[in-house]
Amino acid sequence: MARKMLTLGEVRDGALRNVSFEAIGAAKIASDGGEVVCVLIGNNVKEFGQELIQYGADRVVVVEDEKLEQYTPDGFSQALLAVIETEQPEGLIFGHTALGKDLSPKIAGKLGSGLISDATNLEAAGGNLVFTRPIYSGKAFEKKIITDGLVFATIRPNNIAPLQKDDSRTGEVSSVSVEIKDLRTIIQDVVRKASEGVDLSEAKVVIAGGRGVKSEEGFEPLKKLADILGGAVGASRGACDAEYCDYSLQIGQTGKVVTPDLYIACGISGAIQHLAGMSNSKVIVAINKDPEANIFKVADYGIVGDLFEVVPMLTEEFKKLKIHS
Ligand SMILES: Cc1cc2nc3c(=O)[nH]c(=O)nc-3n(C[C@H](O)[C@H](O)[C@H](O)COP(=O)(O)OP(=O)(O)OC[C@H]3O[C@@H](n4cnc5c(N)ncnc54)[C@H](O)[C@@H]3O)c2cc1C
Repeated sequence: MARKMLTLGEVRDGALRNVSFEAIGAAKIASDGGEVVCVLIGNNVKEFGQELIQYGADRVVVVEDEKLEQYTPDGFSQALLAVIETEQPEGLIFGHTALGKDLSPKIAGKLGSGLISDATNLEAAGGNLVFTRPIYSGKAFEKKIITDGLVFATIRPNNIAPLQKDDSRTGEVSSVSVEIKDLRTIIQDVVRKASEGVDLSEAKVVIAGGRGVKSEEGFEPLKKLADILGGAVGASRGACDAEYCDYSLQIGQTGKVVTPDLYIACGISGAIQHLAGMSNSKVIVAINKDPEANIFKVADYGIVGDLFEVVPMLTEEFKKLKIHS
């Protein structure tokens, strides 16, 4: 059944987030041959429209306003609801990002629709769209269908592949004017924690350190390995609690959920709360000096050894491979 699907393009630090392209890929499956329209909300964001077309959007609708410079649930929902009103889509797909997690229940509530959040897959089967999502902290998966109203879902980054970028693809990028009423909250300033390099939740490679790194300086070899592999550094709560790193790096049940292609756990015991945030990574490598550590139960490759010896060795080997490739 062909459906008109709406997705949301997310711009951060002057670039579109990869999950915007993944949402288009998911919407293509959901649209079943129908139209995929991507909405871009912000201030001076129209320049990103063409890239969304190159990733498969049929059309891009842009809402720009100074009041939309920063994300606020109030401002973005006003803009989005106005577009939904004119476009009348049959479904919505957002990224399961901080923004998507905040905005989607508000929109679902306003529209009186259901919402499947944090989907890791979707497929068309027997006239239905079947979404897969992890439950019980990733220990099981459930399959869900929407039987009535809008097909509305958020998708977990790094799970649904975007379409191949096609630079020759063209499409309409149009601006619509929406009157953004006075916002109930105004963001005056955003104070960012100094974050280096790749965004943890979207990274293809994550090098995570636990209490085994022993100090803030102990993270240095992990950062070097992450640099060589173009990855991001993460941490267990053990490492955060010990003040070896910032809580923004915490992965797990009460931290970030990551699903990179490669997760290297260094000096992490593998507590159930940590596994909840990383066990769906595609390939897991664990480095731990305790051969009985629980992390080895979920690891595809295990290295029993001292991380301060193993991590620099890996870095050197990857460096050589990079030089020769
Ligand atoms: C409600 C609740 C929510 C929680 N949420 C989270 C969460 O979101 N994320 C999270 O991570 N935890 C969470 N926890 C904490 C969790 O239970 C564990 O305490 C925590 O994950 C342990 O961190 P760790 O593995 O770094 O430390 P430890 O358990 O102390 O493990 C350190 C590991 O390092 C190894 N090691 C030591 N030195 C070396 C070395 N030189 N080389 C190699 N290996 C070495 C040791 O063998 C050990 O296995 C939560 C707990 C609760 C109760």
